[in-house]
Amino acid sequence: MIDNRSISLASFDDLDLCDQNMIKYAIEWAEKGFPKHRNTFVGCAMATINGNIFCGTHIAHRRMHASTCAERMALEKAQLSDPNIDKIYVWGKRRDRDFANPVSSCGCCRQLIAENTNHSEVKNPTFYLCNTDLSSIAITKLRCLLPLAFDREFGCYLDDCQIRG
Ligand SMILES: [Zn+2]
Repeated sequence: MIDNRSISLASFDDLDLCDQNMIKYAIEWAEKGFPKHRNTFVGCAMATINGNIFCGTHIAHRRMHASTCAERMALEKAQLSDPNIDKIYVWGKRRDRDFANPVSSCGCCRQLIAENTNHSEVKNPTFYLCNTDLSSIAITKLRCLLPLAFDREFGCYLDDCQIRG
C-alpha cells in the first residue's frame, strides 16, 4: 500500500494485468500526438472507480504555453463525464533516446488533478510514472507529488497531508 509520502519503484512485470493494460493505452496514445516531428512523446491513461478509461497525448506547439500535456487532455475528457479518477498512468520517450527515469507529470497537471479531486469521490489518486522501457515505474500518490496543493476555497489541501511537529 502506498501512503502519502512514499514512492515505490516497480517494473512492468511486477504489475497486475489491469495496470499493464492501462500502460499499454498510455503508450498507444503517446504515438497519436501532434506534430509528428516533435521530439517528446508522452501518453496518459486514466482509470476511474466506475471503470471508465480516458486517454490523452502530448500536443506540442511552437509556443509552449499553448501546448497540451497528455495528462491534461485525459483529465478534461474525464471531467466531461466521470471525474472520479483513481489511477493515472504516464509514459514517455524522446525521439532520439529513451527516458531512463520515470516520466513525471508537470506542476500544472499536478495542480489541475488536485483541483479535480473537489469533484471526485477519489481524493488522492495513484500515479504510475513509467520510463520508456518500463523497467522503472514510480508508483505514488497525488499528495506525495504535490503536497499542500493550492485550493481556492481553503488555501491548500491539508486533509490528507501528514504534517509533523
Ligand atoms: Zn503537464
